[in-house]
Amino acid sequence: MSISNNILHHIENFTSQRDKELLAFSLLKSIRDILNPIRTSILTLNGQDEPTMEISLSNSESCEYRYQDIRVPESTRASLDYINTWHLDELMKAHDDQYTSFHVLQQSRQQNQYLIITLDNKPSRSESYIIKGMLSIYSNFSSLLAEAQTDELTGLMNRKTFEESIVKLYQGTAFTDENDNRANWIAIIDIDNFKLINDSAGHLYGDEVLIHISRVLQQTFRQDDMLFRFGGEEFVVMMRDLTREECKQMLDELLSNVQSIVMNNLDPITLSAGVCEFQKDTFHVTLMDQADQALYYSKQNGRNRVTFYEEIVAAGLAKSNEVTHGDIDLF
Ligand code: GH3
Ligand code: MG
Ligand code: MG
Repeated sequence: MSISNNILHHIENFTSQRDKELLAFSLLKSIRDILNPIRTSILTLNGQDEPTMEISLSNSESCEYRYQDIRVPESTRASLDYINTWHLDELMKAHDDQYTSFHVLQQSRQQNQYLIITLDNKPSRSESYIIKGMLSIYSNFSSLLAEAQTDELTGLMNRKTFEESIVKLYQGTAFTDENDNRANWIAIIDIDNFKLINDSAGHLYGDEVLIHISRVLQQTFRQDDMLFRFGGEEFVVMMRDLTREECKQMLDELLSNVQSIVMNNLDPITLSAGVCEFQKDTFHVTLMDQADQALYYSKQNGRNRVTFYEEIVAAGLAKSNEVTHGDIDLF
C-alpha cells in the first residue's frame, strides 16, 4: 500500500469509530503501523494530576487498558510538567538512543490527556508531519464523539450512551470478572418531589439543582463507575466489583451528600434509589425493570431511601416481568 493510501486507510478507520476507547486504540494502532515505535501510549490524568487511564501498545504486545495502579515514571512526570508550565503542544526528549515525544491530546480542568511515543530513531520531518495531521483528526473527531455522548446540561453521559454501554457489558468488555460476593450493580436514582422545586423556584433554578446533583454524583462515585443522566431528573449509575454492603454504603453517602447541598430558600434535596445486581444472563430490559420496581418501593415507602430488588423479592412484592432476548429487537 502506498504511504498516502495507507494514511487514508487510517483516517477512514478513525472516523468509523463511535466509541472513545476504540478511537484511542485506533490512533495508537495507526501510529504503530506508520512509525513502528518501541512503545506508544495514551495517558490520562485527572484534575488532581493522578493517572486515571493508560492505553498502551508496544511492538510485540496487544493493546493494554489500565484504570488502576498506573505507574508514571519520574522522567515522564517531569516532561509533562514542563509541557504544562510552558504551555507547549509537544515535547521531544532523547535518552539512551531512544526518542520519546509527548503530545497534548486534550487539556481541561477535569482532565489532561497525552500521547507518548517512544522510537529508536529520530522521526523524520515527514513522519512528524504525519503525526501532527493524525493528532488533529483525532482531536476534532474525539470532541465530536464526546459531544454526542454527553448530556448538555450536566456533562454526564446521556441515555444513548447508556444503551451502548450496556451492550458492552453483555459483550464482557466493560466490566471485569465477578468474584466471591462482589458483583456489578445498576442503580436508578430519582429526585424526590422535583416538581415542587420547579413549581416553587422556577424551571431554571430546577436546572441549577440538576447541575449540582450531577457534581455530587461525580464526587461521590469512583472514576470508573459510569454515571448517566437517564431522563429529566433520573440518573443511572453502574458500579463494578462491590459487595452489596459497599454498594449500599456508596448510595447512602450520595443521599447524604445531596442533602447537604445548600441552595437559597430550598429545603434539603432528597433522592430515592432502586438497585439491582447486574447479571449477564438477565436481559437488560428485565434488569432495568427490577431496579425500577425497587425505586418504586423507595418512593412508596417515604422516599429518601435506597432499596435493593432482592429486598422486594424477599418481601414477596416483586412482579415477575421477565423479558427474554427474543421478545425485543435489540437496538
Ligand atoms: P417523585 O418524588 O415522585 O419523583 O416526585 P417528582 O415531583 O420528582 O415527580 P417526577 O419524578 O414524576 O417529576 C419529574 C419532574 O421533573 C417533571 C418535570 O417538570 C421535571 N423535569 C424533567 N426534566 C427537567 C429538566 O431538564 N429541568 C427541570 N428544571 N425540570 C425537569
Ligand atoms: Mg422522575
Ligand atoms: Mg422525581
